Amino acid sequence: MENMIIPLLQHIGKPAKPIVREGEEVKRGQLIAVPDGLGANIHSSVSGIVKEISDGFIKIDALEKQPEDFVKIKDTTNYLEAIKEAGIVGAGGAGFPTHIKLNTKLEDGFVVANATECEPLLGHNMARIVEDPDLIVRGLKYVMEITGAKKGYIAIKPKNKQVLIQLGKAIKGENNIEIRFLPNMYPAGDERVIIRELFGIKLKPGQLPIEANVIVSNVETIRNIVLAIEERRPVITKDLTADGRLVSGNKVFLDVPIGTPIKSIIEDCGGYIEPHGEILLGGPFMGKKASEGDVVTKTTGGVLIGLPFPQDSRKFGLIGCECGAQIDRLTYIVESMGGEVVASTNCKRMKEVNGRFRCEEPGVCPGQAEKVIYLKKNGAEAIIVGTCET
Ligand code: SF4
Repeated sequence: MENMIIPLLQHIGKPAKPIVREGEEVKRGQLIAVPDGLGANIHSSVSGIVKEISDGFIKIDALEKQPEDFVKIKDTTNYLEAIKEAGIVGAGGAGFPTHIKLNTKLEDGFVVANATECEPLLGHNMARIVEDPDLIVRGLKYVMEITGAKKGYIAIKPKNKQVLIQLGKAIKGENNIEIRFLPNMYPAGDERVIIRELFGIKLKPGQLPIEANVIVSNVETIRNIVLAIEERRPVITKDLTADGRLVSGNKVFLDVPIGTPIKSIIEDCGGYIEPHGEILLGGPFMGKKASEGDVVTKTTGGVLIGLPFPQDSRKFGLIGCECGAQIDRLTYIVESMGGEVVASTNCKRMKEVNGRFRCEEPGVCPGQAEKVIYLKKNGAEAIIVGTCET
């Protein structure tokens, strides 16, 4: 096995503080870094020798033969403590520490398992539910018990028929768990869209689900909760989907060790189809440009390989969207095409909240006629929009 590079910042907050030394032998599952303020525990995903420690990562020279088992987290009957010990963070992309999110009491409130898998191309959440639908139901019950919620929902798009059949069987006999459908659109998995569609409550930009007396948790996060409580397993792997200009085509990977280089995921897909363009980590809408040397973290959901950018030297106007491409991403795309950005603006539903532009109503996307006129007046010959409605 190769070197694993385990980032110290895989969550919202500050980088974790290493508690191992260079040259030290570590075992799979061993705690290697602890929070330094807001954050989460980090465990080694492999057995091996600590080769290097920097401000940003711990590099581990992994043993050729890896054990199946792992160092268990401390034995506790306190579910929140188990979640904290296991270093669980929101696996759907946000990376907020789960033990903090769930440390609340919902009076007459609800928990939603977010099974939307909203970004196009990604399929690892659905693959995982089909593999073990009962596990998601058990996890939802744990979260309901922790928070005192009176009811749990599984939010899913109706197009996932096979998954729905499995989930339907798994919730049979559960009086306080229901499946609810979300529209087949992006960004149906946005927490504010889920609250709007399930409960008819419109949260304002910047408001959190807890303000509607609801906790929303991604299904992979829920799986990690079950593994922490039932098997005392820390977060040492991540599910993800690879797609795009790869020989294998769409490929789901389950339980990839955290710290695995993206290069080795691409190799496991048979390599690139040439010509290929950029690597995106995440989904097509919200993914971030990356390189082969980046690694899988607790929030990596997709490894997507694009086409080379077409070349177009015109003058461009940009319209940013909170849930799709924002101005910096659109600017990068235009520059990669050899074009020039002459004007930019945001979707008319985006309003500034605490210094950040937020969408007033995700997924209820308006026409942009006056924005187009504004961009054309400012010299745009062509317009690129980041709007996300599909
Ligand atoms: S309303 Fe505008 S900002 Fe909001 S999701 Fe739609 S296009 Fe994006």
